[in-house]
Amino acid sequence: AVEEAVEEKEEETTAAAAVPAATKHEKDYYPYILIGAGTASFAAMEAIREKDPSAAILIIGNEDIGPYMRPPLSKEMWFNKEEETTKNLSFKDWQGKERNIVLHGKETIQSIDQEALEKIESAESGVKLLTGATVEDLNVAEQSLTLNNGKVLKYGKVLLATGGIPKTLPVLQGAGEGKVTTFRSVEDFKKLHSLVKSADKKIVIVGGGFLGSELAVAVSHYGKEKNVKVTQIFPEDGNMGLVFPRYLSKWTTSQVEQEGVTVKPNSRVASTKAVGEQVELTLENGEKVLADHVVVAVGIEANVELAKKAGLELDEHRGGVVVNAELQARRNVYCAGDMTSFHDVTLGRRRVEHYDNAILGGRVAGQNMASDKLHKVYKHQSMFWSDLGPHIGYEAVGILDSKLSTVSIWTKKPTVAAADAAATEEAPAKEEAADKKDEGKRERATATPLPAEAVKVEDKEKYNKGLVLYLKDKKIVGLLMWNNFGKVEDARKILGQVYDTEKVEALVKPFGIHEE
Ligand code: FAD
Ligand code: NAD
Ligand code: NAD
Repeated sequence: AVEEAVEEKEEETTAAAAVPAATKHEKDYYPYILIGAGTASFAAMEAIREKDPSAAILIIGNEDIGPYMRPPLSKEMWFNKEEETTKNLSFKDWQGKERNIVLHGKETIQSIDQEALEKIESAESGVKLLTGATVEDLNVAEQSLTLNNGKVLKYGKVLLATGGIPKTLPVLQGAGEGKVTTFRSVEDFKKLHSLVKSADKKIVIVGGGFLGSELAVAVSHYGKEKNVKVTQIFPEDGNMGLVFPRYLSKWTTSQVEQEGVTVKPNSRVASTKAVGEQVELTLENGEKVLADHVVVAVGIEANVELAKKAGLELDEHRGGVVVNAELQARRNVYCAGDMTSFHDVTLGRRRVEHYDNAILGGRVAGQNMASDKLHKVYKHQSMFWSDLGPHIGYEAVGILDSKLSTVSIWTKKPTVAAADAAATEEAPAKEEAADKKDEGKRERATATPLPAEAVKVEDKEKYNKGLVLYLKDKKIVGLLMWNNFGKVEDARKILGQVYDTEKVEALVKPFGIHEE
């Protein structure tokens, strides 16, 4: 409580002395430079301006447009009814409101190119966005950086928010020029969207995680009328198999299939070759799949290229730049978003690849950049969400890892169920499952398993509304709110608590699972 009070009080102080006064009017000096024009930089920019409204901020990004929301690119943008809406990069949100993916208005950010940057004699107040420019080098001792055209800029405080680079698979190299693409940016969206406008296209999506699963559903929906066929290939048992307990992953797969996607779980691509204008993928079981285009969605690597060259500390296990709980890598150097390995005071060191983390982390970094006295700790638990077709929408907080023990509570009876693997047909015995799941520690399952027959996908059991608790060392480290919105605050209160079977009903009461 004392810490909170101190934080509150210090938040009221402005940006006094956050950047050295002596250098303020030097040419090519900016008190705040934000590297990467993405979500985290956008949030940091807003936070700096709240504390220091007249701040001179330079955002440098290597895409052609400024900060925008990526989430609609694999969801809402494919559900637009009018082509014009898509062309304008607008979409209808879940409340039916039309919005644009670009995060800023012209009144906030002035777009400039490298020529215009050259003409600036002294950074005035306001936000400038330099697009199409890559920061190639960062010198943290000199507090300077070098752009791809050789231009050197000096900074007072710098934020690294360079996001992630999509991974690919060497086995897809034989596919032929331009036939295999990753999917991260507006440009990637535009290319795939224009491709599936033509009839009868066959799209293969490799990967069963967040992106592969969302995109499979979205592209299949969009292409239905044009007979576009989507096949999804991944090594896990079911969609989101690294995240959801096994029974729920299998159920999710059945729902993705209902959206018209041909799902091939437990599958890996063994080889690819160009066949005329198409790509032939041979799977490890010998099966052949033909595609007009392949999208590879097999995760990202934290983009630490620049940080590595600058000699910043990297996290060898999680990827990303190591920062402290205040999101500081070194004096005057901050990081936020996908490329950040931070110390979470509740859950330990983490790297999170979700939108809200980029927003909330970006804000804390921005606040700390704008005030040398604040020392704000990034302790607000970020959430994430996804939609997969008409019957699946979820929000979550904390660590969701299918290797952890889970306890699930569903509207269907019996109401309290445990343990993922234990609830499937070929499930190992309960204790065995629990032991395996707690990183080798001998820990027992903490709730009674739901009878297997009640959760078999074949039974068409529907997971309408529920809650899954993820447990580690007897603590609740993650919560998945399934078709149950607006409960993120309640979930945050429970995160980090010890799980007690006796108290489970009281614990889950705020989530209203049994109210319908
Ligand atoms: P980014 O938004 O990736 O921004 C980094 C920017 O830095 C990029 O524009 C990059 O080009 C630029 N850059 C990198 N290096 C340099 C350099 N040296 N010089 C100049 N510029 C550079 N999360 C959710 O929680 N919910 C969702 O529903 C969801 N949907 C998603 C859908 C898609 C299609 C994708 C791709 C991601 C989705 N995410 C979602 C994840 C979320 O978008 C990311 O976590 C978030 O964008 C991370 O923000 P960031 O600022 O760290 O990185
Ligand atoms: P991911 O980490 O969610 O999933 C990676 C997937 O790669 C795995 O599930 C697996 O199926 C697949 N994979 C790994 N090796 C493979 C192999 N050899 N063959 C086939 N498949 C293989 O990453 P993603 O789905 O690629 O998403 C990219 C990024 O975008 C992530 O940072 C993700 O968090 C983010 N994203 C988030 C959301 C959301 O939060 N709703 C939505 C879309 C994208
Ligand atoms: P959005 O783009 O406005 O924000 C997405 C999330 O990012 C927010 O939930 C919030 O946590 C965070 N966020 C964004 N800006 C922020 C800021 N300035 N400060 C702090 N946090 C910020 O959301 P959207 O595009 O309207 O839709 C996505 C959200 O809607 C998700 O949370 C999703 O689960 C929810 N949703 C709800 C329903 C429902 O039935 N109630 C249905 C579908 C989706």
